[in-house]
Amino acid sequence: MRLSKRATSIKPSPTLAIDAKAKALRAKGVDVINFGVGEPDFDTPDNIKEAAIRAIKDGFTKYTPVGGIDELKEAVVEKFKKDNNLTYEKNEIIISCGAKHSLYNIAEALFDLGDEVIIPAPYWVSYPDQVLLNDATPVIVKTDEKDSFKITPALLKANTSKNTKALILNSPSNPTGCAYDRRTLEEIAEIAIAHDFYVISDEIYEKLLYDRFRHVSIASLSNEIKQRTIVVNGLSKSHAMTGWRIGFAAGPKDIISAMTNIQSQSTSNPTSIAQKAAVEALTGKQDFVPWMVSEFDKRRVYMIERLNKIKGITCLKPVGAFYAFPNVSSYYDKTFNDKPINSSFDLASYLLEEAKVALVSGGAFGDDRYIRLSYATSMENIKTGLDRIENALSNLR
Ligand SMILES: *Cc1c(COP(=O)(O)O)cnc(C)c1O
Repeated sequence: MRLSKRATSIKPSPTLAIDAKAKALRAKGVDVINFGVGEPDFDTPDNIKEAAIRAIKDGFTKYTPVGGIDELKEAVVEKFKKDNNLTYEKNEIIISCGAKHSLYNIAEALFDLGDEVIIPAPYWVSYPDQVLLNDATPVIVKTDEKDSFKITPALLKANTSKNTKALILNSPSNPTGCAYDRRTLEEIAEIAIAHDFYVISDEIYEKLLYDRFRHVSIASLSNEIKQRTIVVNGLSKSHAMTGWRIGFAAGPKDIISAMTNIQSQSTSNPTSIAQKAAVEALTGKQDFVPWMVSEFDKRRVYMIERLNKIKGITCLKPVGAFYAFPNVSSYYDKTFNDKPINSSFDLASYLLEEAKVALVSGGAFGDDRYIRLSYATSMENIKTGLDRIENALSNLR
């Protein structure tokens, strides 16, 4: 076998891997509590499903324009206007097979060998690998819990070079649940303009915010920063539509047009039926979204409180997404049956094997001191899972 350098430079998505492992154990009859999930545990709302069924019955089952149907682009343009105070033309919008696909198209359209891409850590698992797949160099910048895991202007400046091509921002963040305030975004925008690099802004958790935190899109701060920002968003998280594979990006028309060409040579259009469902998701009734957010909020409050009560664990209260990201490093000098636990990977394996709880090691997100627990599962599962974790940790010596 002689695989490409590109293929051997990356690893499979660790979050999808842990989810698959938990699901496989469950299929074998093992009672696993799955805190590894990266998707809402709610069903896609009925009005959205019905729009898809209508599309099938109407025969809307053929190729569409590569970058998405006009009707959906118009709905996305409206969304940006209404939610983000951003004005785009249709030729500044692309619909892709999920936000991940939009991000990948951006990486292909912008990155070359020698380009540096700044990625604040903890980061979403796919960012570094998408950069590597396009021959560029990820510059991982570790952020601090005391800054709510935000990259500070000083850190950003210190990591900028003449080769810096882009910064990847994710607010609200997976895995930390932290979000950027306007002031910090203004300072970041200033640096991006001064040093002439792009900002890729992944805003997929925009709708999942708590404690009245207000989302700000960095692109909305000025026309100058809008000209160098590509905003990525989608319906997977906001409308419980992970399997439908609809995401989108907005940005300067030359970049969007390059992304559309790339998409035309790879996947072609996103599924016609899913596009019709997406129109309904964006323009139909929205009562599902605040309902889901209030359900997540109850779980968030419970989970964070419980985690902080466990000896040796500290956990920041997240303001967005559906993840808790506790620091568990005080357990790293401990052992179980003489087997040492020295990393977030060791601890995650221990918890899966001994406590039957699946979660993702912080190392997968670029910070080994932490683990990630998703609360996109029932309150009952959360209670049982945390009981199991507490008990398993108390057995470490
Ligand atoms: C889930 C997720 C995505 C990808 O979402 P899809 O639209 O399903 O591809 C992108 N970014 C982050 C941070 C995510 O958590």
